[in-house]
Amino acid sequence: MYDVIVVGGGPAGMTAALYALRNGKSVLVIEKNGFGGQITHSPKVENYPGTLQMSGNEFAERMLDQILAQGADITIETVTGLDMQTVDGIPEVKLVHTEEGETYQGRTVILATGVKHRMLGLPGEADMVGEGISFCAVCDGDFYSGQKVCVAGGGNSALQEAILLAEKCSEVILLQDMPFFTGEQKLQETLFAKPHVRAFVNQKITGLLTGPDGFAGVTTLDKVTGEERQIPCDGLFVAIGLIPENEPFKDVADLNAYGYFDADEECLTRTPGVFVAGDCRSKKVRQITTAASDGATAALAACWYLNRQ
Ligand SMILES: Cc1cc2nc3c(=O)[nH]c(=O)nc-3n(C[C@H](O)[C@H](O)[C@H](O)COP(=O)(O)OP(=O)(O)OC[C@H]3O[C@@H](n4cnc5c(N)ncnc54)[C@H](O)[C@@H]3O)c2cc1C
Repeated sequence: MYDVIVVGGGPAGMTAALYALRNGKSVLVIEKNGFGGQITHSPKVENYPGTLQMSGNEFAERMLDQILAQGADITIETVTGLDMQTVDGIPEVKLVHTEEGETYQGRTVILATGVKHRMLGLPGEADMVGEGISFCAVCDGDFYSGQKVCVAGGGNSALQEAILLAEKCSEVILLQDMPFFTGEQKLQETLFAKPHVRAFVNQKITGLLTGPDGFAGVTTLDKVTGEERQIPCDGLFVAIGLIPENEPFKDVADLNAYGYFDADEECLTRTPGVFVAGDCRSKKVRQITTAASDGATAALAACWYLNRQ
């Protein structure tokens, strides 16, 4: 039986593992894809304190090496849910079930399941993430300094991404596939006042243009006039929503209307011994720094829970 089982091997999960291990706890981290989470899609990380520049993959490898050196057990499996029962006289033991048919026992569980970015669903799109296609202006905006970019979306996130990009890029084109922008009026006013920003509604992005260096722009269809256009650009920021993957855990941790764990920076859930960390919980800023912060908080809360028992 493990002291702590971490679900999700992204920055939040691996930081949680690190803090629990350094407090003398036994830790299993279960990751369904590849250790590192979203950051493995980033060609460069330049905003994590103490890191001048590193690829997302290298960042992920370093986190993984660090927890392995501290004695973490890891496995690549998909967690499908968890329940609780008394085992060998220990109450509230968490049974963590996986798609692969395993059940792991843990005295505490930290859910660090992250988010997936909604994608446009275009051929070749997944291969160009981090190579022309991005989901994060804070993270990747600097790489497009002085260049022309498109932003897909029309809600608050898309408008905020576009405002940030407009500070660095020579031209920003906002493409919304609905007949109007759904983001706040104030954000719209701020953005549309900028002379190098152009915004279009009813524009469905239908394809990706490629050139010798890879991504080269987008093709669009005007849903009202039927006009098809090619828009050459250096980068495409997709801001059409995030998808949390928390449904399997709704019996132990409350979800908000958007599917995020309804927890504040204390990372607690309604189930004693179950904690949440990182992008998967309701929060405003989703970055490695905030994920790592949650990981540390959740792990220390788990340690206090274990020490009290
Ligand atoms: C292209 C890109 C570039 C970025 N660049 C930067 C940057 O430069 N700086 C920065 O600070 N932030 C950046 N970010 C954001 C940053 O990557 C995230 O904020 C951070 O990774 C969140 O960490 P997390 O551990 O909470 O979630 P995630 O990184 O999403 O990790 C969650 C992990 O949980 C796993 N998981 C989910 N469900 C299950 C399950 N049921 N069973 C097992 N495993 C499961 C997932 O496979 C995933 O690996 C970038 C994001 C993207 C997409």
